[in-house]
Amino acid sequence: MTKKLCCLCGLRPATTKDHIPPKCIFPPPRPVDIITVPACKECNKSASAVDEEFRVFVSMFAGKKNSEAERLWENQTLSTVKKNRRLLDKAKSACQPGYITSKNGIILGEADFVIWDDLPNQVIDKMIRGLYFYHFDEILANRANITVGQVKLTMAKVKCVKSLPCNSVGDGQFFYRYARANDNPLSSVWLLIFHKSLVIMGHTNSK
Ligand SMILES: [Zn+2]
Repeated sequence: MTKKLCCLCGLRPATTKDHIPPKCIFPPPRPVDIITVPACKECNKSASAVDEEFRVFVSMFAGKKNSEAERLWENQTLSTVKKNRRLLDKAKSACQPGYITSKNGIILGEADFVIWDDLPNQVIDKMIRGLYFYHFDEILANRANITVGQVKLTMAKVKCVKSLPCNSVGDGQFFYRYARANDNPLSSVWLLIFHKSLVIMGHTNSK
């Protein structure tokens, strides 16, 4: 029997399972359809502190916009920031007042915006590598670079993105859409939507 390789690094044997998205973004009871992919212990463990930061980031962004986001906030995020001074300071400084404007620049109201100066890219990088393996059965490892960014969806982008099939995990807590270039399989685009609020887009490109 051949040993399975870690789908993230492609170097070490897979002895654990990595969860996509990270389990921590779901308040318990966690959905049964969280995706799992084979991973080595090193790749799996290295992300736990970053996962916690990612949860605070997602939760601040989603606020209490729906019941699941509210449960995440009340049951987990609050206790994390109470225990972790660094994350509390970061969460406080990420919250910045601003204005909601119309397309023509007319101020419609005031709101708090979440500006996280260093997006926890490591989490997204790992998710995209895992999802790529899950859908295409190929390990990207060091063959591809991944670029990540938070996106504001415009109507034109929404139209384009809606043409891609939608996949979901849980009950609306996580959605994703993806596409891969036929003529260049290492080039793909991934749109990840957390708690119906935070939209992150990632691209894979051959090195
Ligand atoms: Zn690994």
